Amino acid sequence: MVAGESWGRWPRTDQRIVTLTYRADALPSGAPLLAYGNGRSYGDVCLNDGGTLLHTRGIDRFIRFDVATGVLECEAGVLLSDIISLTLPHGWFPAVTPGTALVTVGGAIANDVHGKNHHRAGSFGHHLHGFCLRRSDGSSIECSATQNRDWFEATIGGLGLTGLISTASLQLRRVPGPWIEGDSLRFSNLQEFFELETASASDFEYTVAWLDCASRGDKLGRGIFVRGNHAPHDGAVPRERVRRLPWTPPVSAVSGLTARLFNRLYYHRRSAQQHGAVWHYRPFLYPLDAILNWNRLYGPQGFFQYQCVLPRDAATTALPQMLRRIAAAGQGSFLAVLKQFGSQPSVGWLSFPRPGVTLALDFPNRGAVTLALLDDLDRITQAADGAVYPAKDARMSAPAFQQYFPAWRRLEAYMDPRFSSSFWRRVTRRSS
Ligand SMILES: Cc1cc2nc3c(=O)[nH]c(=O)nc-3n(C[C@H](O)[C@H](O)[C@H](O)COP(=O)(O)OP(=O)(O)OC[C@H]3O[C@@H](n4cnc5c(N)ncnc54)[C@H](O)[C@@H]3O)c2cc1C
Repeated sequence: MVAGESWGRWPRTDQRIVTLTYRADALPSGAPLLAYGNGRSYGDVCLNDGGTLLHTRGIDRFIRFDVATGVLECEAGVLLSDIISLTLPHGWFPAVTPGTALVTVGGAIANDVHGKNHHRAGSFGHHLHGFCLRRSDGSSIECSATQNRDWFEATIGGLGLTGLISTASLQLRRVPGPWIEGDSLRFSNLQEFFELETASASDFEYTVAWLDCASRGDKLGRGIFVRGNHAPHDGAVPRERVRRLPWTPPVSAVSGLTARLFNRLYYHRRSAQQHGAVWHYRPFLYPLDAILNWNRLYGPQGFFQYQCVLPRDAATTALPQMLRRIAAAGQGSFLAVLKQFGSQPSVGWLSFPRPGVTLALDFPNRGAVTLALLDDLDRITQAADGAVYPAKDARMSAPAFQQYFPAWRRLEAYMDPRFSSSFWRRVTRRSS
């Protein structure tokens, strides 16, 4: 058994690791099995305590790329960063990408990931021509919107439970180059955030806001709104510099005090207010990828991310409630992100994106106090009829999950009988 952890470094689990190197490798015997992509999920959706993790980074071959149509076929362990390296010189880019390019295609399908362009492009599942799903009985199912459609919809956002995705065919989008042009605008409160979203949605491919979650009183809900479009530009491409934290601090470097200081400085920095700015896609789309192991900043106890989506109307009262609760707890994070999802229905039965506003925050793991805070946030999300994102979760209760994702029972019928995860066992636990 090997100790394992995901991006939040909590919980720690023990499991057997089997590394797959070819897409047709036989699946090992025993149960439960679970595919593992690049471990960029924050909680236990990619962990399998007491079972076997199938490491898929070894199945990372490109199969076919049509430079005329932007259709790419590849194995499921290919990273989005590898796709960009191959296709951007030909003017193609992933149609949807999360805030890190260091995720595999299999992981992006299984969580049906979304990006800063959800309001325009939907989520990852909207841009899939199809994929091959391998089952533990030795069968393979070709899945697309027209072939085995139920398996297609069960597997997109299906949390790795329907089997092993071995290959996928993706539709990329045309871009003029590596540059993104747009604006960065301060807003003073949530009302102004919503006005900026409404004013920007139809003209900008990417919109997202950073929120100062340590502010209170009349500064509550202030932040910086960023919007941009792919655009031609002649600048020199900056050299890719990836740094690493040389060591893990013995306690979290993120505390109430450092978070308050960081948030204040970040809000007031000069570049927070600029029109017609030009960014390279890396700092714009993937600012956190510049420090490879930034998750170690939170120390050996790790951290939680809380990401919820709230229906737009309910968000007007639920968001200030959450921000007040977070500020009062003194546990605000550096990285609070606010984004309005579009109204396009997700393809997957268990996909997280749905119309509304999504808020994501990091909290150092301080044990019971942090768990109590997150339970309070869940109560607000539940009352607002929202949902919490499984890819970011390590602690939501079974009743909360089942309220957020009522289609979970439908997924059960499509699960591979030999596949399971620590997350799934936790959120489907029957109360005795
Ligand atoms: C800095 C950062 C920013 C992020 N920003 C966003 C964001 O903006 N939007 C967003 O949606 N998410 C975001 N995420 C979360 C991340 O995109 C997802 O958790 C993603 O699924 C991780 O992919 P992975 O390859 O690391 O898969 P893992 O985390 O290893 O696994 C994720 C799930 O995929 C399943 N899986 C993996 N490979 C396969 C396969 N071949 N077949 C079947 N199932 C498989 C696993 O079983 C698991 O259930 C972010 C994460 C980080 C660290």
